[in-house]
Amino acid sequence: MASRCRRPQRAIPPDTPCGYCFDDWATVWDHIRPYSAGGRSQPANLMPSCRACNAWFSDHVYPSIEAKREARRQFLRALERETARSTRGGSI
Ligand SMILES: [Zn+2]
Repeated sequence: MASRCRRPQRAIPPDTPCGYCFDDWATVWDHIRPYSAGGRSQPANLMPSCRACNAWFSDHVYPSIEAKREARRQFLRALERETARSTRGGSI
């Protein structure tokens, strides 16, 4: 097999927001289709992501990028509600 031209991982430009939560800066490339599921390290399959989102997705496979983003945002919204409830405090 001929050796392929090695393409270095592109650096993420500074001030790039996470492509999923938009709450944090992107510091890693997330494989939209996980590497373990056959996803390639190609621009079409890479999304700038914050570490939290990247770790949360792990190796889950989503039918589309929209579904993937929506799953993460739903989780964050639920988390926000939970946090709001537990920090409201005060008397009953
Ligand atoms: Zn994120």
